[in-house]
Amino acid sequence: MINSSLKQLGDLLQTKKISSVELTQTFLNRIQQYNPSINAYIALDEARTIAQAKAADERIASGNAMPLTGVPFAQKDIFCAKGWQTTCGSKMLANFIAPYDAHVITQFDTAGAVNLGKTNMDEFAMGSSNETSYFGGVKNPWSFDRVPGGSSGGSAAAVAARLCAAATGTDTGGSIRQPASLCGFTGLKPTYGVVSRFGMIAFASSLDQAGPMAKSAEDCALMMNVMAGFDERDSTSLNREKEDYTRDLNKPLQGLKVGLPKEYFSEGLDTNVGKVIEAAIAEYKKLGAEIVDISLPNTGLSIPVYYVLAPAEASSNLSRYDGVRYGHRAAEYTDLMDMYNKSRAEGFGAEVKRRILIGTYVLSAGYYDAYYLKAQQIRRLIAQDFVEAFKQCDVIMGPAAPSTAFKAGEKVDDPVAMYLQDIYTISTNLAGLPGMSVPAGFAQSDDGVSLPVGLQIIGNYFDEARMLNVAHKYQQVTDWHERMPELVLPKEAK
Ligand code: GLN
Repeated sequence: MINSSLKQLGDLLQTKKISSVELTQTFLNRIQQYNPSINAYIALDEARTIAQAKAADERIASGNAMPLTGVPFAQKDIFCAKGWQTTCGSKMLANFIAPYDAHVITQFDTAGAVNLGKTNMDEFAMGSSNETSYFGGVKNPWSFDRVPGGSSGGSAAAVAARLCAAATGTDTGGSIRQPASLCGFTGLKPTYGVVSRFGMIAFASSLDQAGPMAKSAEDCALMMNVMAGFDERDSTSLNREKEDYTRDLNKPLQGLKVGLPKEYFSEGLDTNVGKVIEAAIAEYKKLGAEIVDISLPNTGLSIPVYYVLAPAEASSNLSRYDGVRYGHRAAEYTDLMDMYNKSRAEGFGAEVKRRILIGTYVLSAGYYDAYYLKAQQIRRLIAQDFVEAFKQCDVIMGPAAPSTAFKAGEKVDDPVAMYLQDIYTISTNLAGLPGMSVPAGFAQSDDGVSLPVGLQIIGNYFDEARMLNVAHKYQQVTDWHERMPELVLPKEAK
């Protein structure tokens, strides 16, 4: 049951072969067994979760079920969920109980889904390894001494270890796709504006976007049907007609033009990861795809541009944490200014402080033109690269991350090495484009451990249904997305 697709689970629930309470309890038992070592969940509330499952069973009995009614999900702790501890991985919000629901949470509630708990994450979504979390690191279920990726590391580990049916994540520069690659599951960052950011704690508002983290493309499509949609409470939410993201899943791929950017296959890419990606491309050729060589010439500028713009926006967004209204307040202080200073000094971790400093600097008078404005101009050029590329192909493919999961502690003291984890994902955020990571096989690490690799698929604006189709067809002829980590296999499956 723990490896079933969302569609299978929905069918089992609606034909009453299982109840939501049973299914939910199965996952809660696994969480009890594995979470103490993996640290994927940072807030659990069994009574609340079971009450939701009971309500779902009643709804199914009354004949009002929707496709995901009764299915248990994990929610990244960046989403405000009424009555739940909502920390964003920070000491600053460690005592914060959200008084309202994020749009994404409301959408899952309306669908009758069950909330298993809140998942661990890098502090304020800043990181690529989950090691900046105030609540400690998360273990990669494929190899416990390695990181799950970040910032959605808790959701990633929960999906990979089958501690939920699927999970939500957010992606500002790669935080859905990089962990999906490192943990071996399917993750989608939608076009900017497709999923409302209301109630999603802001990091860099012009880049932040929520998306599904699940076993398969079909699961992601079903979740997109729940998550996407106009919301007037987010001024950047797009007012578009509601889509059925499953509509194209089974279309043949004959004649699909796949662009391979030369910049994604050059220096910096682990050789073994490169081989897995090449094998995946070969599989696409068998499925009828045509390969086109393309170029995204400004790829190399995406990391520097992002590390001006994202910290600039973060420094502004995080100015609200001042110890006055909510969040951490220092116990002792002399006056108001001292209270601000001490509360922020104690409440934020080192990486968050680094970003606030950079952001404040690039926005300051005298440096604004040289850094912030220049970065905005290059952002436009990066977006333009994709406009040109999509004149030649339907989708772009390449690696989602330059390496497999690295060891905990390996990059924490080298921020630039950590930032390079997103070299293949960040430019899609800067352009506002959708991107996904799909399990494509396993590569050997230097010390001989076999670890998952994700194939990235980048689509044109609003082309999620096609990307999901492209991923789904591949998943029908491969089984990478069904593999489970040995370390967390139930006894009967071993
Ligand atoms: N790793 C990137 C960062 O630290 C992206 C994080 C994200 O997508 N939230 O900013």
